[in-house]
Amino acid sequence: MTDQTSTHEFQAETKKLLDIVINSLYTERDIFVRELISNCADALEKMRHESLTKDDVFDSHVPLEITIDLDEKEHIMTITDTGIGMTRAELEENLGTIAHSGSGNFLAELAEAAQKDVNLIGQFGVGFYAAFMAADKVTVQSRSWDGSEGNEWVSEGAGSFTISDRPGLHRGTKIIINLKDDAEEYAQKFKIESIIKQYSTFVPFPIKLEGDTVNTVQAIWTRSKNEITDEEYTEFYKFVGNAMDEPEMRLHFTADAPLMINALLFVPKENFESFGFGRMDPGVNLYCQRVLIDQHSENILPEWLRFLKGVVDSEDLPLNISRQSLQDNALVLKLRKVITKRFLKFLNEEAKKDEDKYLDFWNTFGIFIKEGATSDFEFQKELAKLVRFESSSSEDGKAISLAAYVERMGEGQEEIYYINGPSRAAIEAGPYVEMFKKKGIEIVYTMEPIDDFVLNHLGEFDGKKLVSADRADLDLSKSGDEEADGESVEKLSDDASDDLIGWLKKTLEAHAADVIESKRLVDSPAMIVNPDGHMTSSMERVMAASRMEKGIIPENSKKNLEINLASPLIKQLADLVKTDESFAADVAMQIYDNAMVQAGLVVDPMVMVERNYKILNKAVGV
Ligand code: ADP
Repeated sequence: MTDQTSTHEFQAETKKLLDIVINSLYTERDIFVRELISNCADALEKMRHESLTKDDVFDSHVPLEITIDLDEKEHIMTITDTGIGMTRAELEENLGTIAHSGSGNFLAELAEAAQKDVNLIGQFGVGFYAAFMAADKVTVQSRSWDGSEGNEWVSEGAGSFTISDRPGLHRGTKIIINLKDDAEEYAQKFKIESIIKQYSTFVPFPIKLEGDTVNTVQAIWTRSKNEITDEEYTEFYKFVGNAMDEPEMRLHFTADAPLMINALLFVPKENFESFGFGRMDPGVNLYCQRVLIDQHSENILPEWLRFLKGVVDSEDLPLNISRQSLQDNALVLKLRKVITKRFLKFLNEEAKKDEDKYLDFWNTFGIFIKEGATSDFEFQKELAKLVRFESSSSEDGKAISLAAYVERMGEGQEEIYYINGPSRAAIEAGPYVEMFKKKGIEIVYTMEPIDDFVLNHLGEFDGKKLVSADRADLDLSKSGDEEADGESVEKLSDDASDDLIGWLKKTLEAHAADVIESKRLVDSPAMIVNPDGHMTSSMERVMAASRMEKGIIPENSKKNLEINLASPLIKQLADLVKTDESFAADVAMQIYDNAMVQAGLVVDPMVMVERNYKILNKAVGV
């Protein structure tokens, strides 16, 4: 066979990544060892899976393990695995490009993180290229499990790499690192051993460092809970979650029926999506009898639990299941349901134990619970127990559960009320809460755009309907302090009211669907309510914004205007219609627009300002 050496340029993104790795990432250098070991472990997991499902595997007698050899004199570190290896084409593809989706974004974020906070680097998983943090030259010898002859990949990280034939190799991959002058410590046994202890204790294959096995290979999730220390759990979390922080919560549970399950799930401390790092990949791996079936599994938990890290192991799954068939496998669906319910129950128990701690969780990860409530019908009941919102009875900034609301509900009240607004102060100054205040009825404040969708999807809690206070058909007559209803207020006479309402309907015809007498305004002259019980003003606002983004001019659906017949302004307006109808029409339109603004809905600002000046002119006597 003729020796064929070919030279290849790194892909442009890879060059940029190498540049960052070589020039700015040196404080966290140790992680390169972890990255390489984790690649070895991946290759070994794949091999283990293949050898269980296929008969003719090349070099099948070779034990699955990782070997690290050090040459202190020559400053060389060598790490070898007996995993699936790579063909020539795979070497060229895998070690020349970055597989990361949206790698442009990834690089920009990495560059920023490299300058700001090296602790974040671990989250990125620089992968194989991390070797160049410590290497002058990297040589990769690999032979694929398909039995084709081996090859050697060599690069100094500058701009190109070569690949040549390398016959006679065993199956797997050997990575030879020629250490930089200032990285010689990585040829010392105690240094490598301490890195393995820190990052790679839980790699499920023996790591042999100069002949000694330095890790424990037993799967922690199969051990009994009372034998595992907190430190071990934390170490495992760091390993499985590729994390630097400590876990905020953990759930370790086993079940025998209806399914055999061993699960160890962690809630991290931070929500990296909220830092603008884009959508997280799922963090839970699926095992069957300790064999990894699906890493970062998209199937074992619903998408909205993607913030969890950990492991699910079930002996009931067939070992030879392919990754593609996991998606609609009935057993996987069942597992997913059982584990999701168990985790949500766990959260509820945690909240009962320590509500303040739960609120910390809620503030960081509540957005995922909300996502679940709006997207997954299956777990509505469990999710409804977990949502938290502020309310008229809560302290400023301290959210309450729907259960706490129900507990405080007065006699006669059958529904749970909520109202959306940009802030607590804005809600409390608005017209919607007036009657609630007067009658002493608690009302939930929803302050995020997604909140009304959440409550609308949940529909009810504990048999009580969730009702937005901006609904047209809201009836508070049976709830709260009934005496407050009977308080005499001087209203417009019936005839005058009929006349005024008739006139307003005509005048506002192009805007309001209907004009009606309000039974629940106390001070404000008017407010907007929604005749469509499934849509709140907040939901309409969110949908209008998304249409705007798509370039579609949104049209408000027509609302009802409720007017307060006891309000001095409305009473005077009835007279004004008779003396100066055109001015009265301006005032009516302004009242309508004001109510729209209070509902958080869009009005035409130019028209509104012009009309407003017209009214002011009259007021000052121009
Ligand atoms: P990642 O591991 O995140 O995919 P890397 O840059 O670390 O990214 O590796 C790129 C690819 O190279 C891997 O996905 C894998 O296919 C291949 N690879 C790396 N190291 C090994 C190894 N030791 N054995 C087999 N394949 C490997």
